[in-house]
Amino acid sequence: MPRTTPEIRSVKARAIVVPLKRLLKNAFGVFEAAPLVLIDVATDQGDGNSADDQFAAALQPQCRNERDWETRRKKDENGGKALTPAQKQEVEGRYQYCMTNPRTAGFYQTAEDAGEKKPQIWIHRNRETATTRLHESLHAYANPDVARKLPHFASEGMTEYFTRQIALRKNLAISPSYDGPFNAIQEFSARFGEDTLKQVYFQGQLSLICKNLVERFGEERLTSVDQFESIAYGLALIGRTPDPERWTIAASLPDGVGA
Ligand SMILES: [Zn+2]
Repeated sequence: MPRTTPEIRSVKARAIVVPLKRLLKNAFGVFEAAPLVLIDVATDQGDGNSADDQFAAALQPQCRNERDWETRRKKDENGGKALTPAQKQEVEGRYQYCMTNPRTAGFYQTAEDAGEKKPQIWIHRNRETATTRLHESLHAYANPDVARKLPHFASEGMTEYFTRQIALRKNLAISPSYDGPFNAIQEFSARFGEDTLKQVYFQGQLSLICKNLVERFGEERLTSVDQFESIAYGLALIGRTPDPERWTIAASLPDGVGA
């Protein structure tokens, strides 16, 4: 978007008194509050203050993480070489989509990403559906390693998997926005059992994913962490496809599973 000089539409000044978190003591006494003047400048390019703007600003670290992950992935694919212009463009396109996707109704931020002492949950009040808050709250119960070490789509799929179980029990409408990641994780659960999924998600026993895949596909075909990562990447790809059915055949599920 070309940057132009914003045109000022209005200026609003307000005097406010801010309660201080810590009392301020000096020679004149003890102060519990401080005076402050707030000046809102609205321009033709927005005031940077709307719910959309705040939401987008908070979303940025998460989209950046996803972009970093994609970049590392592509670099690995290139045998350690830098990304080609086309790859860079693809990664950048996904980042822009992450930042501007009007269907993103909420997200969970680790304390680290939020720069706060505690993790934060953001909900966009004009976009949320019946299960948005439930989904975001479940993230808080996940072991931190899930978000830290697994691809974004695997983490989302697991979160949505448990969200939908509660939603079904409570008769809440299910949002289709996580269909892809959900389907991929459902396949994993069907093959390796829900208990395994629970141990991975709530207790952070990520090695169980590897162990189960080794048992299923054989040690010789799955020996290194790299291979595990590429399977995690595969899960992410499955999560993106609108039709995961063809992947389930490729993964040769045992008879009677995944039908
Ligand atoms: Zn989520």
